[in-house]
Amino acid sequence: MLLISDLHLEPGRPDISATLIDFLRTRTQGSQRLYILGDLFEVWIGDDAPNPLADRIAAELRQLADRGVEIFLMHGNRDFLIGSDYASRCGAVLIEEPQLLSVADRRIALLHGDVLCTRDTGYLQFRKLVRNPDWQRDFLARPLEERRAFARQARQQSRQATAGNAAEIMDVTETAVTGLFTGLEVDTVIHGHTHRPAIHDLTVELRTGDPQTAQRVVLGDWDQAGWYGQIDASGGVTLHSFPLSSDTVNS
Ligand code: MN
Repeated sequence: MLLISDLHLEPGRPDISATLIDFLRTRTQGSQRLYILGDLFEVWIGDDAPNPLADRIAAELRQLADRGVEIFLMHGNRDFLIGSDYASRCGAVLIEEPQLLSVADRRIALLHGDVLCTRDTGYLQFRKLVRNPDWQRDFLARPLEERRAFARQARQQSRQATAGNAAEIMDVTETAVTGLFTGLEVDTVIHGHTHRPAIHDLTVELRTGDPQTAQRVVLGDWDQAGWYGQIDASGGVTLHSFPLSSDTVNS
């Protein structure tokens, strides 16, 4: 199975959209599942907002689903308002985080990764607000122009906060990572969000007190290259990158 995240698709980056389309057509052969672990889109203000780029991507994902690949879509901190309408147009299933998988003898947890960045308390407060179902219902009922204005403002604030924060604030904390492994009793965690692609080998202490080897796999964002993770039948996880396509997608 394949895992991608943090494509941050937007009309201003047609090269990334073209790379995704190429990826879906050429690199998914032999895979039975595709997990999209959040931030497929740079911004999402509702399934009802006219969005030619999203239409194009939905059509491509649907073709992949029609070829028999199961597609799972998780929310990121940018596109947390993607709804079941859009997911079904993609032929995808919306999944909650953490998503637990067993592959061979490995227990794997999948998540976007923003909840692991526990030093960024300002963001976590914002997250709590916007992930509230009442807030979301109210927001999605507002006129499109109002929603667009809110999204613009949120992105601007996020950029300012990111620029003002030390780099370590934007990374995961050891406490959050350890808590996740022990709390979920998994030996593998795969996430994106931090834009720091890597495979970290670690030792975690289980509830029994026994140390166990574990892996935290961080998927890459698609700003400079395409990235994907792969889980093989024996539970081995690998991380791959490839150049962005020089084609563009106009939509
Ligand atoms: Mn993110």
